[in-house]
Amino acid sequence: MARGSLREGAYPEIELCAAQIKWKGKVDLLVVAQDACEITDFKTGAPVDGHGLQIQIYALLWSRDATLNPAGRPADRLVLGYSSGDVEVVAPTEEQLAELESDIVGRSAAARLAIAQHPPEARPAPERCGYCGVRQLCTEYWTAGQSDTVRQARSRRFFDIEVTVSGRHGLSSWDVQVAPSQLGPAAGHGVLRTGGDIEFCPGDRLRVLDAAVAVDDESEGQPAVITLGTLSEVYACA
Ligand code: SF4
Repeated sequence: MARGSLREGAYPEIELCAAQIKWKGKVDLLVVAQDACEITDFKTGAPVDGHGLQIQIYALLWSRDATLNPAGRPADRLVLGYSSGDVEVVAPTEEQLAELESDIVGRSAAARLAIAQHPPEARPAPERCGYCGVRQLCTEYWTAGQSDTVRQARSRRFFDIEVTVSGRHGLSSWDVQVAPSQLGPAAGHGVLRTGGDIEFCPGDRLRVLDAAVAVDDESEGQPAVITLGTLSEVYACA
């Protein structure tokens, strides 16, 4: 459908575009009446803090969409529709919209700058790195950010862990040294159980993803037992 000035009516799933700030978004329901404009955003989950800001950004997009809203009418009513009931969010004043716009422009510029860097800046965080498909290559992950991530992973018994092979332990197991940043006070000697036909050499430094790690905190000096499973991956470091 060609975009043009909206007349009175209800517009579901409508895309708003603020060309000047290069932002757009799709609003669940926009109602344009003679004396008021209303935006409703339907939510399937429970209320979270960011929902209010999101719908206020929709209000900004509506007021700055020069094609659909050439008169720059403000959104007068903002509603978050939850299964538990509607929650009204205070519609921003023009002054607040201007502040929001300035904030968005600033953040957009910072984000563009960040992604233009080669390589982009790494920002390790447990909630992100555990799902990252290139974490075996990420230096920051294996240094500062890794200790937090490991601690979090430890509660679910699966670790990403960096070790150095010191020698063969058994037919399918290897003696390894675990770096202090990997297992905290329990760092030190470990046994890597591969369960199969992987060969290593003494001195090999390995990054092991999603291994089961057992540490006996109560028996000092006991090696950490690192066991590869079907989902584990092993990468040799250069
Ligand atoms: S592992 Fe590195 S690249 Fe991946 S999310 Fe974490 S910081 Fe970013």
